[in-house]
Amino acid sequence: MSTSQFPTRQLYYDGRAQPASSGKTFKSINPSNATPLAEIQVAAHTDIDTAIAAADRAFHSWSQTPPIARARILQKAAALLRERNDEIARVETLDSGKAYTETSTVDVVTGADTLEYYANLVGGGGLNGETTQLREDAWVYTKKAPLGVCVGIGAWNYPIQIALWKSAPCLAAGNTMIYKPSEFTPLHAQTLAEIYTEAGLPAGVFNVVYGAGDVGAYLTAHPTIAKVSFTGQVTTGMKVAGSAAGNMKYVTMELGGKSPLIILPDAELDSAVDGAMMANFYSTGQVCTNGTRVFVPASMKTAFEKRLLEKMEYIRPGPLFDDTTNFGPLSSAVHAEKVAYYIRHGIETDKATLLYGGLGKPQVPKELQDGFWIRPTVFTNCTDDMKIVKEEIFGPVMSILTYETVDEVVKRANTTELGLAAGVFTNNLNLAHRIIDQLQAGITWINTWGESPAEMAVGGWKNSGVGVENGRRGIEAWVKNKSTLVDTNGAVATVFAKL
Ligand code: NAD
Repeated sequence: MSTSQFPTRQLYYDGRAQPASSGKTFKSINPSNATPLAEIQVAAHTDIDTAIAAADRAFHSWSQTPPIARARILQKAAALLRERNDEIARVETLDSGKAYTETSTVDVVTGADTLEYYANLVGGGGLNGETTQLREDAWVYTKKAPLGVCVGIGAWNYPIQIALWKSAPCLAAGNTMIYKPSEFTPLHAQTLAEIYTEAGLPAGVFNVVYGAGDVGAYLTAHPTIAKVSFTGQVTTGMKVAGSAAGNMKYVTMELGGKSPLIILPDAELDSAVDGAMMANFYSTGQVCTNGTRVFVPASMKTAFEKRLLEKMEYIRPGPLFDDTTNFGPLSSAVHAEKVAYYIRHGIETDKATLLYGGLGKPQVPKELQDGFWIRPTVFTNCTDDMKIVKEEIFGPVMSILTYETVDEVVKRANTTELGLAAGVFTNNLNLAHRIIDQLQAGITWINTWGESPAEMAVGGWKNSGVGVENGRRGIEAWVKNKSTLVDTNGAVATVFAKL
């Protein structure tokens, strides 16, 4: 008999849950105490083919449904998500290990916002093309057409938000989707599929398959798939983009970062410390845009570290549903081991100065001691060549680096193959804009960190990704353009009219 807390999850395609034929399952685990939550059925290749066939059939009528009618269904789904916010957030907390204070206020809400944003955008004419008059008797008009059956592949850090950031513009634009959540956080996917169905989405428009990298790889190589939208690590993203190139699929790649947060000497100390803490410890550091390289002016280092150490005490690990808990475990045992490896490397090999935290678990109640907890950790006296400064750790590990001049810090901030996010804290807004202009990153902030509303297009530069999600530009990733030149002159300009 299964000891899991939730029923076994089947695949979801053609409008309903359907058993997988692989005979294989994997477990979703509660990261706070290492107990199993649910068995998840793994999709066999034949199941994936069947799901893709259902999505392909549904594409013909969904893509022909007027945008305003599509918008009505998606708006209803957004309303259902908001109604069920607490129930969905509860499952998200159990599955991902994120504190309920976060999931109940951010994860579902920011997903529903994006769904509403794209429903409103397409309902209000956001897919219209342009008309250009070339001459008195000639025009060019353009049309945006949906791509077809698209694939969404998610990471584990913002499960339902990622599912919505991909499916919202995809479906609004008239495409259908096969969604594969991360094998570490799969529980949101069926709930989302059921909500879409309840809102009136036709069978086959949104489908879910489960499994690890091999299921993702099968999807990305499948000839029927028109586009792959991927969120995950850079190394995986490179494989996915390579596979998708096989038959010229469109791709969006939302990948990792090692982002610089630059504090200027005139910045408000408290704001800078708050910003740096949000940029390193929110979601236990498992945020792609984290500002993990914190550049502090040498003259400010002592004051910054003193205030930071005072505020580190406000990080409160504990039972995930307590109102006071603002720090959860890492999302899986394997990820906790990876983060611990980097902390050990920082201490023993990089020989950075450990200012706070370190190896071992934070103090949590006895019943949580088997969970995948890691202490919030701060290294200082870091240098650009250290492994902990160069590589994405994706955990609660801050590196403090000092600098002397603005030109120097901008150059050092850009010395990385990644380019996801960057930010500046200062009271000098002219200088802030000048610095932001020089930073090689797709997502930037001034005097704040981390907010990513539906209206803001986000995507990485360099190895951090291709394309954007959200904002008006986000819809462009889910359509192809057609340009038509109409000539009403009646006579074709030809060079073959006479001998
Ligand atoms: P990951 O690359 O290990 O896995 C991501 C997804 O890819 C999973 O669903 C996995 O099953 C699937 N996958 C693995 N191998 C595959 C293959 N060969 N073909 C197709 N799919 C495959 O990433 P992760 O550890 O789940 O997520 C953490 C990473 O995600 C971090 O690097 C983080 O920065 C990044 N991230 C980026 C953004 C962004 O918007 N830029 C947002 C969230 C997370």
